[in-house]
Amino acid sequence: MANTKAYAAQSAQSGVAPFSFDRREPRLDDVSIEIDYCGVCHTDIHFAHNDWGVTVYPVVPGHEIVGRVTSVGSDVSTYKVGDVVGVGCMVDSCRTCSACESGLEQYCKEGMTGTYNGTDRYDQSVTFGGYSDNVVVSERFVVRIPEKLDPAGAAPLLCAGITTYSPLRHYGVKKGDKVGVIGMGGLGHMGVKIAKALGAEVTIFTRSENKVAEAKKQGADHVVISTDEQQMKDATETFDFMLDTVPVQHDLNPYLNCLSHDGTHILVGLLEPIDPALEAGNLVLKRRVLGGSLIGGMPETQEMLDFCAEHDISCDIEMLDIKNINEAYERIKKGDVKYRFVIDMATLKNV
Ligand SMILES: [Zn+2]
Ligand SMILES: [Zn+2]
Repeated sequence: MANTKAYAAQSAQSGVAPFSFDRREPRLDDVSIEIDYCGVCHTDIHFAHNDWGVTVYPVVPGHEIVGRVTSVGSDVSTYKVGDVVGVGCMVDSCRTCSACESGLEQYCKEGMTGTYNGTDRYDQSVTFGGYSDNVVVSERFVVRIPEKLDPAGAAPLLCAGITTYSPLRHYGVKKGDKVGVIGMGGLGHMGVKIAKALGAEVTIFTRSENKVAEAKKQGADHVVISTDEQQMKDATETFDFMLDTVPVQHDLNPYLNCLSHDGTHILVGLLEPIDPALEAGNLVLKRRVLGGSLIGGMPETQEMLDFCAEHDISCDIEMLDIKNINEAYERIKKGDVKYRFVIDMATLKNV
């Protein structure tokens, strides 16, 4: 009898459906977690549909996990039974390279082990994610959910939250800085909240007029309609930092021109070639920097959760019964969710 109830995709066309499997036996440094909530990230959909050609089926998605500790191995010192904890996008790394030694496990030179569709470094089994009733993870890759945070709203912080927090912190965004956030989805709305909490003056760049009221509601000081030439012209050379959350190809040149000299534009959503091409002059002539950033390391993920607790930041969520997961995928693809679905994992018990 398999010890874990879950939802998995069996093929690119199958959708996600009930599944069961045996979670690996806990090791000495492992924390066993009963999952209460799991956020639904766009990456889950890409893996379920094999959009990137790397999916190993069956795949159990889910890397925004919040739950309670049910047991700990004898080497575990940080957590005890009953603690509310989280697991994000990775569950292991080599732990010895320069990136890992700096607490930047996401940039591990051997490659991090993904929470799902990764390969376990000890037994070479494929990792299964958070659309399941329990997970077993090494203590180093577990974070503490502060008591002040709502555990369901905290789940998406483990991917969407850290993805936006890490570059804002790394590039030292501070009080008074002018920050642009491009895109108003799951990542964008977190970017606004975190940049505001850091004291920045925040502008949302969006293509659609009908997102203006929503952007203001999320705390943005200003909104620029990016398809309006005059508004983009008025924004020329006014920003210190641009957080670009757009996951599809788009023209970066108009945004680079919105940066002051020495401004920084960071991509967190795009993984494809830049097209249309970049005008190098837009960088060179103003000493501007274009870069990218991937989630955050484990120490920084804990720091982000503590920061969110201190500043009352949570993700806006819509709670989901797991049996409606395929419908939720369709809505996410249409951008029809404010701003993250979170699966109430208690609903898995009824399956
Ligand atoms: Zn994600
Ligand atoms: Zn490493």
